[in-house]
Amino acid sequence: MPKDKLLLADADICVKCGLCLPHCPTYQQTQDENESPRGRIALIQAWAGDQLEASEKLVGHIDNCLLCRSCERVCPAVVPYGRLIDNFRSRRYLQSDTSLALSLMKKVSHNKTINRLAQKGLKLYQASRLQKTARLLKLPKLLRLDTIDRLLPDYHESTLPIQSYYPAQSPIKGEVGLFVGCMGALLDHETVNAAVKLLTAVGFNVTMPEQQVCCGALAQHNGDQKTSGQLALSTIRAFADHSLAAIVTIASGCGSQLQEYQDTTFAGKVMDISQFLMPSADALIGRLLPLDATVCLHTPCSLKNVMRAEKGALNLLKLIPGINIMPLPETMPCCGSAGSYMLDHPKMAQALLGDLLTVALEKRPDYLASSNIGCALHIAAGLRERGVPLEVVHPVVLVARQLQL
Ligand code: SF4
Ligand code: SF4
Repeated sequence: MPKDKLLLADADICVKCGLCLPHCPTYQQTQDENESPRGRIALIQAWAGDQLEASEKLVGHIDNCLLCRSCERVCPAVVPYGRLIDNFRSRRYLQSDTSLALSLMKKVSHNKTINRLAQKGLKLYQASRLQKTARLLKLPKLLRLDTIDRLLPDYHESTLPIQSYYPAQSPIKGEVGLFVGCMGALLDHETVNAAVKLLTAVGFNVTMPEQQVCCGALAQHNGDQKTSGQLALSTIRAFADHSLAAIVTIASGCGSQLQEYQDTTFAGKVMDISQFLMPSADALIGRLLPLDATVCLHTPCSLKNVMRAEKGALNLLKLIPGINIMPLPETMPCCGSAGSYMLDHPKMAQALLGDLLTVALEKRPDYLASSNIGCALHIAAGLRERGVPLEVVHPVVLVARQLQL
């Protein structure tokens, strides 16, 4: 009797055709079958069928997966690859070690009080000379927190007071909820402000519930299904207002998680901000100042492979007169950020980032735009480390900066 029928049933869908291999970033980097989707499925299959032990090596190959889901997008047999990996990790959750950086990130993401304290602490850390001094003394490295410290952007005060409701600024089209997530609230105020500015400008009342919490992606992809389930319930409760036409997300990592909640009524309302704004584009045309700049557009894996909304950001940016948009190639692999992956797999994350930056910088852009905060922070850190003064922004920030009210 196999030890895990559910895992085995999902793994057995794979016909071992290998079509996914060229699309897998870890396989591209290593050329090792064990680091490919087909190889990982075979390892899980053997473990679930009691043919292999969950050795450190086996678990390591599964943990090295970025969960970018490029394999899922091209798989002709429709293997539910994301579910398979999440379920395998959940079976292993209680036995897995967690790094200090990841534990800290989980605490800040999952606990609202700690998240608020972190906002205040971050302001103090950066506004005083504490961050510079700590870096000079190499304290983040000594404390094994350098993988987090490198991601911290310059702190900006919110230009809008954060409130739970913003009224439409033109004839009303409806009500939407804005999901900002734990990292948006902490590190990405300009994107939150830009989203509110654009949504209200095109005619939506915006509800941003104070009670909203982390989407649960971090917990789920680390195998902690209990916490991810609790966070999903809290999020659904926070947006329970039935008058909301949509729940708009500003980070595709969060959006992809919300779209896969088991509550299909909630999940069906979730949309990426750029995709959501496009049907209202008429309300922006003629109000956007020209921008004489080249923008390299990065499409996050979560936007492309899960939300399937990759055209939204491109179309939205095209509304800006004079802009020159240079998207990264569709075949560009994951940047290596992948939720908390960059914290626990810095070597692979840096290799993937290096490849992406080589291609991006050939375009000599004035900006790099990305619709996911995790990718944006990882890419911006890579640019800082290389001494390249290139601003990384969410597409809605560029549009909002050009909008005349
Ligand atoms: S995961 Fe899909 S594409 Fe990859 S080997 Fe299996 S069936 Fe083929
Ligand atoms: S999810 Fe991404 S990294 Fe993981 S096996 Fe699939 S393609 Fe490779």
